[in-house]
Amino acid sequence: MLTIRDLSKTYANGVRALNHVSLDIPKGLFGLLGPNGAGKSSLMRTIATLQEPDEGSITFDGIDVLRDKDAVRRTLGYLPQDFGVYPKVSAEDLLDHFAALKGYAARKERREVVESLLRQTNLWEARKRKLGTYSGGMRQRFGIAQALIGNPRLVIVDEPTAGLDPEERNRFLNLLSEIGEQVVVILSTHIVEDVTDLCPRMAIINRGTVLLTGRPQEAIEALSDRVWKATVSKASLADYQARFNVLSTRLVGGQPVIHVHAESQPEAGFSKIAPDLEDVYFQRLRQHAQAA
Ligand code: ADP
Repeated sequence: MLTIRDLSKTYANGVRALNHVSLDIPKGLFGLLGPNGAGKSSLMRTIATLQEPDEGSITFDGIDVLRDKDAVRRTLGYLPQDFGVYPKVSAEDLLDHFAALKGYAARKERREVVESLLRQTNLWEARKRKLGTYSGGMRQRFGIAQALIGNPRLVIVDEPTAGLDPEERNRFLNLLSEIGEQVVVILSTHIVEDVTDLCPRMAIINRGTVLLTGRPQEAIEALSDRVWKATVSKASLADYQARFNVLSTRLVGGQPVIHVHAESQPEAGFSKIAPDLEDVYFQRLRQHAQAA
């Protein structure tokens, strides 16, 4: 269990990236969802002991994360947002190198570790290829392979699905989900679908503030009977946006389809729909924007 209490951080330029963040993150895949600039990376880097908060505490299975950094690093796997690889080196050789750095000194044991990670991330067949020839999805799976060296109990992946095509994204998320059966895995993302299917628990964060935390399904149920849908004309769209709590607008066959948050039918032409996590997400962001 990872426990975060009252974590705050203001950067030297005055940006308040974390504002009294408190979260309980149990074993499993945990989705940290928020728009760009929400503070996700700041939170991830702080948990990964790469930067200091101004105040607050983090504990992981009894370890004081902010004080005992070495203990955290021994049990941490981290895939940063800007994970770079050496393009001219093969996956197998680079992973072997990382494993050596992580303390696998004996060659035979290291080979076993490298093979098992390459198989787990489905890169075994491609292990001899230079990393520069890898697709985005393969590169991210390689990033996970290096994060898993040493059997970490805490795995942090920062915006790993940005830029992946749908098939690669699914494959990657399934891999994270499997890893989450054993350990704490925190996945940060601005893509709602990353969280919907595979994360048993999640948080929504915006401007450094946690807006919601819990199970996606419960958050969706809490919004039931309050989301309405209508197809409107392009010319009247701005009018609808001014009069109602419009959560989202999507063009379907060239015509705007809007989702509106309301206690009862906004007006004739609206039909009640079963909300999804995207509705929850936009409703919370909207509420937060109005409160500001
Ligand atoms: P996210 O990962 O959700 O996109 P970040 O944690 O990267 O959010 O950023 C949160 C806010 O803090 C943004 O406004 C960003 O511009 C700002 N920020 C991030 N890192 C720094 C830094 N090192 N110095 C100053 N401001 C920063």
